[in-house]
Amino acid sequence: MIRCVRMWTGGDGDSLFEEGWIDLSSGIRGDSIGETVPVVELSFQETRSGGSYEWHQDPVPRFVITLSGTLEFQTESGATFTIRPGDILLAQDNTGSGHKWRLIGDDPWRRASVSLERSRPQLQAKQHGGTPMSTPVSENPESESPDVVLIGAGIMSATLGTVLKELEPTLNVVLFETLQDCAQESSEAWNNAGTGHAANCELNYTPRLPDGSIDISTALKVNTEFDLSRQLWSHLVTKGAIGDPYAFIESCPHMSFVWGDDNVTFLHDRYKAMSAHHCYHGMEYSDHHGEIAQWVPLVMEGREADQPIAATRMITGTDVDYGSLTHLLVSQLQAQPGFSLHYKHKVTDLDQLADGRWKVTVKDLQTKHKRTVTAKFVFIGAGGGGLELLQKSGIPEAHGYGGFPVSGIWLRCDVDEVSARHHAKVYGKAAEGSPPMSVPHLDTRIISGKRSLLFGPYAGFSSKFLKHGHYTDLFRSIEPSNVVPMLDVARQDWGLAEYLIGQVLQTGSHQFKVLEQFYPEAQRQDWREAVAGQRVQIIKPGPHHSGSLEFGTEVVGSADNSIVALLGASPGASTAAYVAFETLEKCFAKELADGWRDRLKTIIPTYGIDLTKDADATRETRAKTAALLGLTNV
Ligand SMILES: Cc1cc2nc3c(=O)[nH]c(=O)nc-3n(C[C@H](O)[C@H](O)[C@H](O)COP(=O)(O)OP(=O)(O)OC[C@H]3O[C@@H](n4cnc5c(N)ncnc54)[C@H](O)[C@@H]3O)c2cc1C
Repeated sequence: MIRCVRMWTGGDGDSLFEEGWIDLSSGIRGDSIGETVPVVELSFQETRSGGSYEWHQDPVPRFVITLSGTLEFQTESGATFTIRPGDILLAQDNTGSGHKWRLIGDDPWRRASVSLERSRPQLQAKQHGGTPMSTPVSENPESESPDVVLIGAGIMSATLGTVLKELEPTLNVVLFETLQDCAQESSEAWNNAGTGHAANCELNYTPRLPDGSIDISTALKVNTEFDLSRQLWSHLVTKGAIGDPYAFIESCPHMSFVWGDDNVTFLHDRYKAMSAHHCYHGMEYSDHHGEIAQWVPLVMEGREADQPIAATRMITGTDVDYGSLTHLLVSQLQAQPGFSLHYKHKVTDLDQLADGRWKVTVKDLQTKHKRTVTAKFVFIGAGGGGLELLQKSGIPEAHGYGGFPVSGIWLRCDVDEVSARHHAKVYGKAAEGSPPMSVPHLDTRIISGKRSLLFGPYAGFSSKFLKHGHYTDLFRSIEPSNVVPMLDVARQDWGLAEYLIGQVLQTGSHQFKVLEQFYPEAQRQDWREAVAGQRVQIIKPGPHHSGSLEFGTEVVGSADNSIVALLGASPGASTAAYVAFETLEKCFAKELADGWRDRLKTIIPTYGIDLTKDADATRETRAKTAALLGLTNV
């Protein structure tokens, strides 16, 4: 007999449970056989001994088959039951107060989770009747003079808002978003590649130096910034603010793949430098066709047997659905007092008052009505809209900044037979003269439970700063203070302009040929074009009216630290937590000293520790966050 505990949501919203046995009938060989149950997903998970999970619901009905470990489950009423190896849990309490569990005994919890529905949830903001919810203004009288105004409902504002409310739940935070929902620009799942950038595979982070050595310092910085995001997400999962990490993150090996003798030598030297560092523990290298074919069969089938190739692999890499994550963060913020969100509200102006507060002018795009709110602190997380708002703020620190928009196209394949045969993000080498963000890569994507492949991006030029922006964006951004740095960049970076023009002129068959370098037997009919998000690269003013084109992100703020904007595009969403902490250090130094720092350490246990130097702390945090987020660890 197979013991089964079923949980469901009772009429009062609390979880109930009953203990019983799986119904089995006699089979032909004397076996007992149960009925066939249609299921859609299977995943294996492991939680270290001592693990626990605070109040949560499972997002979809699922069977959880315990392979090892003994657990105590508890419902809101205080009732408890025990699950042991071999027991089946049928979790149908997908709404309401949910349940919590803790491991008892010394064994880890190893389990197979079998979902009856797709496990990526309907985005939470849409669960309430299909329309994302703004907060009615009348319900939040404080929202006219909040402590903090966040502009733009992408991953950056959602992350900073979350961190601020974690540190100080009494803060009054208001978020304005032009569009009708959050994560509709760069943070939308299909608008980016979903790489949990840990600099495992992006070759542009590890240049060869003139002395022949490989510089891995930038890679290490990005690598450990991602550890901060993992810790923040783990904290939210542990406290139940995010129900199920599989809703936004999954393990997906990160690979670099090159061909040609010089590139093979480079990759081998890079592997030697990186694998010697504890941050890249577990990195694998191969220049053997057969072995790489086992890792990524589609990349190898149809490839000439004598082509010199090499690959590295980190099986600890991740695929992240930043759109889903943004929705989850925004939903848990909306559930908190002192937070309000206004969709279809565009911030049109920013003026600093004599007392240092900011007067934020907002236009309701439905009623066309304009109103103002005054806030002590403003975060411009407006993506491509950030530069214009920074210019409107009039702070001297914004002087001379310009933006250079780069659009993108993907090739996307939704054919299950093809996507089922590729499980990796495979990054190649950027073409000569191309910007780092146009490095081609063949990626597994898992979005709303569906597995697809993405290839690209093919860079292009559009004068829009946002996907939903205007073709006049670039021209409106030119002002006397930035025209000289922009012209200087145009002069110096003519190669980039030529590259982008070349990309725009590429025909579909040219684009497909680039894909064939990664996937020689790709079939044209399996792939279609998909438009990626817009990126605005920073043009940064330098000395003597010079300008430079930057490919990173930069937090630009006023001297009094009352306003900051995030400019630039890379490494992007995966380092949102790092950006939030940088903002805290810049603008909330007093609060950090007065107690926030201690609270921050409970959320980010490695806060203040340099993980590039501390191997033990790195191992410990990775093991812990991997267990909580259901990720592969080595
Ligand atoms: C092709 C491509 C691939 C990428 N790949 C990756 C990747 O693999 N991994 C990774 O980590 N990152 C990646 N990125 C980068 C990542 O997508 C961005 O860094 C991140 O999404 C930026 O988030 P954000 O919140 O700053 O901006 P956005 O998500 O763009 O949000 C800004 C929001 O502000 C709103 N807004 C603008 N102006 C106003 C205004 N005046 N008033 C009110 N609201 C306003 C916009 O409507 C928008 O909703 C990629 C980007 C692109 C384009």
